[in-house]
Amino acid sequence: MKRVYMDNAATTALNKEVLEAMMPYLTDIYGNPSSLHTFGQRAHTAVENARHQVALALGADDKEIIFTGCGTESDNMVLLGIAERYKTKGRHIITTAVEHHAVLYTAQRLEKMGYEVTYLPVDEYGRVSAEQVAEAIRPDTILVSVMFANNEVGTIMPIKRIGAVCREKGVFFHTDAVQAVGHIAIDVNEMNIDLLSLSAHKFHGPKGVGALYVKKGIVVPALLTGGAQERNKRAGTENVAGIVGLGKAIELACAKIEETGERMTRLRDRLIDGIASAIPEVKLNGHRFERLPGNVNYSIKYIEGESILLMLDLNGIAASSGSACTSGSLDPSHVLLAMGIPHEIAHGSLRLTLGDDTTDEDVDYVLETLPKVVEKLRKMSPLYKG
Ligand SMILES: *Cc1c(COP(=O)(O)O)cnc(C)c1O
Repeated sequence: MKRVYMDNAATTALNKEVLEAMMPYLTDIYGNPSSLHTFGQRAHTAVENARHQVALALGADDKEIIFTGCGTESDNMVLLGIAERYKTKGRHIITTAVEHHAVLYTAQRLEKMGYEVTYLPVDEYGRVSAEQVAEAIRPDTILVSVMFANNEVGTIMPIKRIGAVCREKGVFFHTDAVQAVGHIAIDVNEMNIDLLSLSAHKFHGPKGVGALYVKKGIVVPALLTGGAQERNKRAGTENVAGIVGLGKAIELACAKIEETGERMTRLRDRLIDGIASAIPEVKLNGHRFERLPGNVNYSIKYIEGESILLMLDLNGIAASSGSACTSGSLDPSHVLLAMGIPHEIAHGSLRLTLGDDTTDEDVDYVLETLPKVVEKLRKMSPLYKG
């Protein structure tokens, strides 16, 4: 049976070249980067080389990059750290209703600790505007956190304008760019970004390694204490092979970012148009154009997202309903609900996300299989009258 992986927003396949770059650090070069001997120094050099690769990819300085254990850790570190460090300035934080749970649940945790959080509502496409941010900023606001691109519906936020508003008002601006890095060209200075989270496994790097960009002059206290690694910002012996993989993956992705973006956009549009013409009563979630090159998200009326996923899987297609973190539970997506999509339709959402390795044949196979799956399920659905 043909196998098609279209769940790249959940995680991507490890690039072969990335694996090759990592291999020596899983075998011969096993020294601790903090050690003074040659074993250690070779590992140290590799970590610093990867730091330079990440900095180059973002238009940042090497000293502004901190390696972490994942995107979730980077998000937690920013919210909890800024809240702690700048609490004498104020205790108000602004974010959006459609953030990843790594931001959303951390914001809720801060509320329990006595902070006040404004969750900006979004429009029908899942966007907040720079004007909304400007209106929400108060004298006691210490942080604005708005994701670069949404992991469920792929909507891209007006990051540069939001950053400009924050800069003008003197409030730190963080963006969870886990879905964007390696897919959309980013320059932190040009886009007025103060803090940025990224994760290697979303752009064909290894799992369990992320990074945080912190603009010079901003203090984000350590979440983990212990050793002096990462200039005292992240204790714990470095995941050397993972960090090397992150550096290689970001370098490879950014070297061909426009080419990949154009190719994926073309495949994405084939899927979007193909589904719309082959299946009646579907609704595209998110913006038609202001979306990630590799994201397709449809509500398919009268059937449950979960049943579509199971049937697709039986046909060799890996897809997802909303985000990987909430599938498995029957809660409708908080993102779709925030976009004003009714509960019953929010349950029937299907997310297909493309990767570097997605081909026209993969798209053909999905466009051939999905209509049959939907028709079969609708025939069994008491809600569908055909
Ligand atoms: C995947 C993801 C995360 C979490 O990253 P991990 O490295 O898996 O912890 C955070 N935010 C967004 C938008 C994501 O897509």
